[in-house]
Amino acid sequence: MSNNSEHCCLSCGVDISNKRIDAKYCSGRCRMRYCRSRKKDQLIEELVELFRQLPNHSVQFTDKGFYLEEWDVINRTTQKWYLSELKSMSNQQLNGLIEGKKWRLAGENLANLLFNRS
Ligand SMILES: [Zn+2]
Repeated sequence: MSNNSEHCCLSCGVDISNKRIDAKYCSGRCRMRYCRSRKKDQLIEELVELFRQLPNHSVQFTDKGFYLEEWDVINRTTQKWYLSELKSMSNQQLNGLIEGKKWRLAGENLANLLFNRS
């Protein structure tokens, strides 16, 4: 029910008032780009959640945002992923990272179950 005269492409913000009233994008390309970036946000959220749950992983907040940190117990090094880095990764790369962390979490949960750690 919006009588908003501003009718812009959700992706690039170009005026699309000449398009159908329910149009959201100026082009198929913009629709795809928008969906991909939404998907990316979801993937990053998923990754943040995994870093919250995994031991030796954490989410660190700075005044510029946050980064994900992993403490490598064996090599005694920390690895950091800044938000800008995560955003510049492809969705496929993010998925790969998520899969790896999911396996780690599954392994942790299994170890907790077997050895009754908590
Ligand atoms: Zn557009």
